[in-house]
Amino acid sequence: MKASKIFSKTQKTDPSGEISTNAKLLMKAGFIDKLGAGIYTYLPLSLRVIRKIEKIIRSELNRIDAEELLMPALNPKSNWEKTGRWNVPEMYKIADEEYGLGWTHEEIITPLAKKFLNSEKDFPKSLYQVQTKYRNEPRAKSGILRGREFIMNDMYSFHLTEEDLDTYYEKVKEAYLKIYERCGLKDYTYFTLADGGAFTKGFSHEFQTLTEAGEDVIYICKKCKLALNKEVEHKKCPSCGEEDFEERKAIEVGNIFKLGTKYSEAFDFKINDKNVIMGCYGIGVSRLLGTIVEVFNDEKGIIFPKEVAPYDIYLVDIKGGEKSEQLYKALEYKGYDVIFDDRDKTPGEKFSDADLIGIPIRIIISEKTLKEDSVEVKKRGEEKSVLVKIKEITKYLEKC
Ligand code: ATP
Ligand code: MG
Repeated sequence: MKASKIFSKTQKTDPSGEISTNAKLLMKAGFIDKLGAGIYTYLPLSLRVIRKIEKIIRSELNRIDAEELLMPALNPKSNWEKTGRWNVPEMYKIADEEYGLGWTHEEIITPLAKKFLNSEKDFPKSLYQVQTKYRNEPRAKSGILRGREFIMNDMYSFHLTEEDLDTYYEKVKEAYLKIYERCGLKDYTYFTLADGGAFTKGFSHEFQTLTEAGEDVIYICKKCKLALNKEVEHKKCPSCGEEDFEERKAIEVGNIFKLGTKYSEAFDFKINDKNVIMGCYGIGVSRLLGTIVEVFNDEKGIIFPKEVAPYDIYLVDIKGGEKSEQLYKALEYKGYDVIFDDRDKTPGEKFSDADLIGIPIRIIISEKTLKEDSVEVKKRGEEKSVLVKIKEITKYLEKC
């Protein structure tokens, strides 16, 4: 993509009135536009990141035999009345309160599953979607970490026995850890025991990513690294008995629950006279983008991990002429997603945009580098650059 053709533009100053780092950086760099408190447009740059996150999620969930569907966000009131969750603060009610906008989807998936899962051989089953959710959040001040409209990946599983749910729950836990790892967050994300909520016997489990921007406080066991949400009563680590914990702020990037039979009872979903047992699992997709920005940034801008960066390479042209255009085409042909900065701007302005947008690799091609048949390559977040011969560039990039 030529920088001159990118729809959004970077701003020189921070947006006014924003307190959170993710909102400041994402707005300044042209990734999101704010329509209202907690309501954002994902501009082309951020949609590329979101699509990459979604691709990672789909590949890991498909691997554990989950199947993707897409349910309506517009939900009839009657479904929610069956579970007593119509009159909750999260629910946006519309059309004379005949409909609500889905803030989670147990009320839709349970009667749906009942239609198609009719006998023992249809179990176990796991279904997921990537969908826009609506929640009337009172505190929508954390940029895309807490939207009133946001993208969630929610999954629901159906089982005939507790043991079967336990086995699947473990698989989801591993899949989630893999997803956060592939998003570059492995070293920051902790499997965390949390309150089970009104209908869960034991704990629920959260995936918490360390950052000062986090609204949650977790205690990390100094011995085995299991984390506990502050809201959970504890004296000792329930896993290893250790009594020493480290207190940290974190963002909840995912949450998994054993639902038991709460929803199958409400919708009378039974097989052989026994209520079906359910699990539910959720990842905040747009919150993950905000989290990545909170974790990976410096005074110059965002530093995207390469797996989720909107583009792989930022190619800065400084009077390289024909040769620059050739290199741009060659890199794209090799499969790299490249921003080719062809704009009539100073080199300094181009460098600062490359840093602000956070593209993992910057390549400069100029009259000077071309004298040596080379380009200058620098990784975002590193100071030193390397001169690489043009004919060796793709080999060099493979190792980056
Ligand atoms: P929180 O405690 O942060 O309000 P939650 O526990 O209500 O979140 P869940 O119902 O568990 O959220 O939703 C699953 C996931 O969706 C969460 O782990 C989080 O990553 C994401 N999420 C929840 N609410 C929002 C929101 N308002 N904006 C963006 N992402 C959200
Ligand atoms: Mg939660």
